[in-house]
Amino acid sequence: MSTGPSWDVVIVGGGSAGCALAGRLSEDPRRRVLLLEAGAAVADPAGFPAEVRDVASLAACDPDGPHTWDVGVDLAPGRRTRVGRGRLLGGSSAVNGANHVRATRADLDAWPGWSYDATLPYYIRGEDDLDVRGPLHGDAGPVPVVRPAGELRATVTERFLDAAARVGVPAEPDKNGDAPPGAGLVPANVRRGVRVNAALAYVLPHLARPNLTVRGDVTVARVLLDGDRAVGVVTADGERVDAGEVVLAAGAVFSPQLLAQSGIGPPDVLRAAGLPVHHELPAVGRGYTDHPNVYLPFTDTTGGEPLHPEAPGAQAAVHLDAGDDPAGDLEILLFARPFASGGPCHLMCALQAPESRGMLTPSPELGGTPRLEHRYLESGRDRARMREVVRRAGEMLAAGGLALGTERGLGDRELDAWISAHLGTSAHLCGTARLGVAGDPDAAVDPELRVQGLAGLRVVDTSVLPTVPRRGPAATALMLGERGADLIAGVVPEASGRIS
Ligand SMILES: Cc1cc2nc3c(=O)[nH]c(=O)nc-3n(C[C@H](O)[C@H](O)[C@H](O)COP(=O)(O)OP(=O)(O)OC[C@H]3O[C@@H](n4cnc5c(N)ncnc54)[C@H](O)[C@@H]3O)c2cc1C
Repeated sequence: MSTGPSWDVVIVGGGSAGCALAGRLSEDPRRRVLLLEAGAAVADPAGFPAEVRDVASLAACDPDGPHTWDVGVDLAPGRRTRVGRGRLLGGSSAVNGANHVRATRADLDAWPGWSYDATLPYYIRGEDDLDVRGPLHGDAGPVPVVRPAGELRATVTERFLDAAARVGVPAEPDKNGDAPPGAGLVPANVRRGVRVNAALAYVLPHLARPNLTVRGDVTVARVLLDGDRAVGVVTADGERVDAGEVVLAAGAVFSPQLLAQSGIGPPDVLRAAGLPVHHELPAVGRGYTDHPNVYLPFTDTTGGEPLHPEAPGAQAAVHLDAGDDPAGDLEILLFARPFASGGPCHLMCALQAPESRGMLTPSPELGGTPRLEHRYLESGRDRARMREVVRRAGEMLAAGGLALGTERGLGDRELDAWISAHLGTSAHLCGTARLGVAGDPDAAVDPELRVQGLAGLRVVDTSVLPTVPRRGPAATALMLGERGADLIAGVVPEASGRIS
């Protein structure tokens, strides 16, 4: 391809989207692809530590652990927490819950220049669905998708689905099937108890390709600009890497941080952080979304066997169409494995289409972590929807004869207080560099994921999603990498929302 710089494409960040991008872009032997990952780059599948491989373990996402960035988050005034995001090849897909659920049609059709129909081929291309066949599913992709069956399904899971039916929730047997929301098993990217992260699926099988180079323990400090064109990146060690195209895939926390560190962002915010302003882009960091949640502990009185060690803990979910959001904006997710030995099981109750918007303020430090203010439940509608999902979960537990704590039967004010005191995050941050039609001041990238006003620079990760999808974003992050690769290769028809 190019005869200039050493690399046709440099991808910054080897996470969900970055690994999918690297795998697909390097299929063309003429394209020289460099993937730079800040964390360790394991080259052998057996090299991943047990807690990263083992889907039953949630230990790898500990913010204090060796495989994570420790990200502080202000969920709401007075409510601060920490989230561990993946910092190794595979990124957050290597430390996450492995729930593999697509965005809904309503989500995808609302993204300018994108749509359910435009993205479906890319979800399909990525997956090997071992349970469901047919035109909506793939059987040849690198990511195995399975639902808990046989000994991998807990007795409490059956009880949960039965309780959902008793309170009138319709069945949704295939959560990736474009059907109305309801109760069903959660698809997971797992093979024989191993969390199949994006590196295992997309990169490690292709390390022998001469045109693909993967470097771990390389933190990129900034994008190198020549006027209005990105020409490469500079690492934290001061190394300059020239490339024909730079793709940021550092995730929804660090891609906007890298843009800001490169002088790309809202001028007032950059100046306040003491950063230079090279390119004004007001949308960076503003108006992001994430799923707020609370956990309801309950006692599993089913007397069933302990969950099989190869089974994912999150087994089944209810998505509710409670009237004004037919796509289902409320989620009740069953965690059938206690978080601590001998402890209770949990229902996670989450708001999947929140109105409240967050704010990311970049760190002035090179390699620093930005400040995140989620501003959860600022909207009255969001507070009402959270009360609704907690009450619906309580009804289900009662209908299933499963013992519940004290939060049942509380009035609105008391329940609001209980929710505020127990508020958490699903760690599904999206939209810190949103896509939109060219010229939209609320958009950082156009529908082809090019940074507005600059050549040679794209963002391809969950930063670009205009809103957090109504289901977890992991499957969608892989889809972004799949479709992003075709956009870069120029084999996707011009996105319809783009104004040139
Ligand atoms: C604990 C946890 C559990 C989750 N569980 C689920 C789930 O079960 N289902 C679901 O749908 N979603 C889940 N999610 C969300 C989902 O995993 C993420 O939204 C998704 O993986 C994000 O993909 P990404 O490509 O945008 O970023 P990431 O996968 O986070 O990748 C970003 C990569 O960039 C690297 N990087 C960052 N900065 C730099 C830099 N300066 N230089 C070089 N490299 C850099 C990082 O180390 C990382 O490897 C979970 C998230 C977390 C944190």
